[in-house]
Amino acid sequence: MKRFRFRSLLGLLFAVVLVGLIGCGGSNVAAPTTYSSEQIAQLDIYTPRVAELRDRFPELEDYLQNKDWVNISAFIHGPMGELRANLGRVTARLLPADAEQAQFYAAEIGTHLEKLDAAAAEYNQIAAAKQYREALDDFDAFLALVPEPSA
Ligand code: ZN
Repeated sequence: MKRFRFRSLLGLLFAVVLVGLIGCGGSNVAAPTTYSSEQIAQLDIYTPRVAELRDRFPELEDYLQNKDWVNISAFIHGPMGELRANLGRVTARLLPADAEQAQFYAAEIGTHLEKLDAAAAEYNQIAAAKQYREALDDFDAFLALVPEPSA
């Protein structure tokens, strides 16, 4: 959680810098390198949905420690079932260079969750824990690319 807050702070600083850049009023028609107010407004809608799922993600850690295989699967197919679509909605609104990286991390998260689900089905705690940690790292890497909500 501590590391996530630190990254959030970085995101906030990044957003402040962006606002400063937009305020300078450079013409960015050819190659967008800053967010339009419309993009920011849309990200303000979709980013919290991803951040909310990130905040709930450590619930999996408790299930893993308790070898609660049924709830691991239920959590992946329940609350996290919305994740892929929500990651896609955010990715589609990022700057092109960031969107490319975000797409990579979104695909990674999906792969790790599939492998975590498979490991849970085999009651393999070590393999499941490994996939959990990797998904968490990719989740944080994804969110580090996203500007902090402006509200
Ligand atoms: Zn990964």
